Amino acid sequence: MTVTVQPKALQNHKARDFRMLIDGAWVASDSGASLERVAPGHGVTVSRYQAGTAKDAERAIAAARRAFDEGHWPRMTAAERSNILLKAADLIAARADELAFLDAIESGKPISQAKGELGGAVDIWRYAAALARDLHGESYNTLGDGTLGVVLREAIGVVSIITPWNFPFLIVSQKLPFALAAGCTAVVKPSELTSGSTLVLGEILIEAGVPAGVVNIVTGTGPAVGAPMTTHPDVDMVSFTGSTGVGRLTMANAAQTLKKVSLELGGKNPQIVFPDADLDAFVDAAVFGAYFNAGECCNAGSRLILHRDVADEVTARIAELSQKVRVGDPLDPSTQVGAIITPQHLEKIAGYVAGAQDAGAGIALGGSPLDLGLGQFMAPTILSGVKPDMAVAREEVFGPVLSVLTFESTEEAIRIANAIDYGLSAGVWSRDFDTCLTIGRRVRAGTVWMNTFMDGAAELPFGGYRQSGLGRELGRHAVEDYTETKTLNMHIGARTN
Ligand code: NAD
Repeated sequence: MTVTVQPKALQNHKARDFRMLIDGAWVASDSGASLERVAPGHGVTVSRYQAGTAKDAERAIAAARRAFDEGHWPRMTAAERSNILLKAADLIAARADELAFLDAIESGKPISQAKGELGGAVDIWRYAAALARDLHGESYNTLGDGTLGVVLREAIGVVSIITPWNFPFLIVSQKLPFALAAGCTAVVKPSELTSGSTLVLGEILIEAGVPAGVVNIVTGTGPAVGAPMTTHPDVDMVSFTGSTGVGRLTMANAAQTLKKVSLELGGKNPQIVFPDADLDAFVDAAVFGAYFNAGECCNAGSRLILHRDVADEVTARIAELSQKVRVGDPLDPSTQVGAIITPQHLEKIAGYVAGAQDAGAGIALGGSPLDLGLGQFMAPTILSGVKPDMAVAREEVFGPVLSVLTFESTEEAIRIANAIDYGLSAGVWSRDFDTCLTIGRRVRAGTVWMNTFMDGAAELPFGGYRQSGLGRELGRHAVEDYTETKTLNMHIGARTN
């Protein structure tokens, strides 16, 4: 039996009404309409965002364009920009509880986890501030006596930033501070399900000293606001995180005007376990990797590929530990697995489980939604006997559902791991260095964890192979992603050729 934490009604909670940030002003949408956000863990309206339109997106793009072409932001020293980003980091830290609360009620994630994400985000803003001062080009005085080559890194211009609902504050923090560090201006569109913390970030950036028009935040649906942000000729780059389907559409839209695109998309991440692994450590990591953020995580370790010799034992141990996972009220500090983002998404998750059963998989644990009185929840679920060609082994379920597959040889494990369209991350568990390194080099994924899972750091690049994305975020080159390279080829004296 899964240990549940009964949701408590949000008493005396007043829904928060948000406006949008365009050119330094908090404005209503052109539509005059708003979008209501019902808290997935509590079933009541907690936020109202402006239902933005293409016209709102165009106003925001015009403001960002002006701020880039004529404003002070791209022209100030990197030191000045860095200091503003550091001030923003301090202000985010000061308002971390408010931001984490918004993320928890709007997305249904556990409050303890939301606070952890805020800590990570503050660190990323500080890291971007440090990188701002190290952005530089190259010079070549080796091209002949009369020639000097200088390679400049220039801010790319206006960036459209589009983010999903699963890590609202963390994901905007993986993009915006780096774009700002480079001297870009931005239009940000958060998910229409979880816009609150991004809008509070707008207040923080104004207080930190970011000039009007440099950061604009437009709320609304993808088709209404996001799409024009990907086609408008005055936008120079689109940085998108979300589903592979919308990522594909975004790239096609951006191709109309040949904008640069950066895409962070879905994943179906394998964890490969050999018999010599530290199984205690793995069982713990498997439970964390599967149910973190209720499995609504691009990095979820949703595909276990266990060596046949240990598969039964390991599955039983994971099922045992999974029963102790505390599911329920996102605002209870003891909760480990919160609510599912929408009732429709819960149906989709349950549909995957039913489909896997029809295809011959067994249920080792859970398998159905949990009725906790308020909100929508899914029981931690383990599917055994999953075959590589089943939908549940190939597609993103985006829920607390773990698929267990087995292998006999290293080659077979690598083949299964690589036999899908995604390539975001992977894990390998073995005490043998050769085994870990072989898997690490041959699995096609942007991150491979060895004897750990889902660790990250601002210094480490993150992103996907194949249909998990294009480009990398974080790491020392993150600011360069938001630049163009310009060559100045200078000649001294009479031309000789
Ligand atoms: P989604 O693709 O439905 O939406 C993402 C964003 O795109 C939202 O802001 C949405 O409004 C917007 N959008 C929707 N249609 C659009 C359109 N036609 N034009 C422009 N924008 C549009 O994704 P989601 O359901 O919000 O998030 C879950 C997905 O995000 C999962 O697939 C997950 O794997 C992925 N994700 C990836 C990473 C990563 O770093 N690789 C991180 C988190 C989430």
